[in-house]
Amino acid sequence: MTQPLSVAILGASGRMGRSLIDATLCNDRLRLAAAVERAGNASIGVDVGVLVGQAAVGVVVSEPLAPAIRQSSVVVDFTAPGATLAALEACISSGTPIVIGTTGFTPDQKLLIAEAAKRIPLCIAANYAIGVNVALKLVELAARTLGADYDVEIVEAHHRHKVDAPSGTALAFGEAAAAGLDRDLLSNAVYGREGQTGARKRETIGFATVRGGDVVGDHTVLFLGEGERVEISHRATTRANFANGALRAAAWLVGKPAGLYSMRDVLSLND
Ligand code: NAD
Repeated sequence: MTQPLSVAILGASGRMGRSLIDATLCNDRLRLAAAVERAGNASIGVDVGVLVGQAAVGVVVSEPLAPAIRQSSVVVDFTAPGATLAALEACISSGTPIVIGTTGFTPDQKLLIAEAAKRIPLCIAANYAIGVNVALKLVELAARTLGADYDVEIVEAHHRHKVDAPSGTALAFGEAAAAGLDRDLLSNAVYGREGQTGARKRETIGFATVRGGDVVGDHTVLFLGEGERVEISHRATTRANFANGALRAAAWLVGKPAGLYSMRDVLSLND
């Protein structure tokens, strides 16, 4: 029998961290080697099983990054941009692959991530839910087939605690539509409208953001034409989708050469 894959989870006591711990403990092909939180977090020293409402498993949440990463075959990071960049340095030092789920990176931070991927296998995705990645593919296909006669608008909703907008997933849907239309998203994106906006410019890709309650993540891409509209929607009702997709990416990433990978690679959606 093959040995289970040892995983370190960064951001252990966060919403995603707990979901990842739960999914790892339920997966007999994975072993939770380490769970890391930032200094001062109330979960440090708590058994990870207890943290997610299960029986104790003998692994406690800890703070030092380097030893946690050294004892793991792969790292799964759902923290915050600064924490992810610190984790990248530690992963490069130990040659450990990393799955990045954190969103909200600046363009400069994205360049640092691309540099790191020249030295270690690195998977980054705005959304690890497998359904979302299938929807991204559908959006690209719809945009390419419907073409410039259809206006593209993207609506997303998330819980009241989310700190970045539009969501990384909404931006990924924008990129998918832009790719299908051979358009540049950066120069055509409109992030909300107010007041005397004037008529809609045809090449625009619009975003609207809703925040509130406990919404896990809803995204709809609208293709608005004359006399018909196409809507491609994904609704997440549990974080387990993201966790299971990220763990699938982690298992896929181990043994790959250094490089920048996405869920398209993990799910063979590149054709
Ligand atoms: P959260 O705030 O509940 O959890 C983040 C955790 O990271 C917190 O517990 C925080 O203490 C911890 N953290 C911060 N700095 C740290 C450090 N230096 N070392 C270790 N831990 C540290 O947030 P969340 O809802 O779990 O989301 C986390 C990130 O993942 C966000 O960027 C979010 O947008 C993203 N996210 C991505 C996906 C995806 O599929 N890619 C899905 C959900 C959330």
